[in-house]
Amino acid sequence: MPDSIFTKIINRELPAQIIYEDDRVVAFHDINPQAPVHVLVVPRKQIPMLDDLRPEDAPLVGHMVHVATKLAGELKLDLGYRIVMNCNHQGGQTVFHIHLHLMGGRQMQWPPG
Ligand code: AMP
Repeated sequence: MPDSIFTKIINRELPAQIIYEDDRVVAFHDINPQAPVHVLVVPRKQIPMLDDLRPEDAPLVGHMVHVATKLAGELKLDLGYRIVMNCNHQGGQTVFHIHLHLMGGRQMQWPPG
């Protein structure tokens, strides 16, 4: 599998505003923010999409959510925020390396587009 754009960011081959990293995930600001705060939480493991998750990946996905909630606190999203994971083309996925969107700082609408 060729390296995804996010693997290149994780490997510091492409620039990004990285705000958090640990042994399992890296978080950085989205290049095209859809809210005042728009951060991506990306696993170091390159899994193309949610449909590719295996049972043993469940703790990793839980960790992604946990990191996002911690970052929401650090980014002062006290009034609330939204977490989104898109799957495949019809789900709006454009980068085929799973990631979680953490968005906040404005009133979110429902249903999403
Ligand atoms: P998705 O459409 O769910 O696959 O989300 C992919 C996200 O990656 C989009 O919100 C893009 O704006 C974002 N993105 C693409 N390239 C970069 C990059 N080089 N640095 C930061 N974010 C990026």
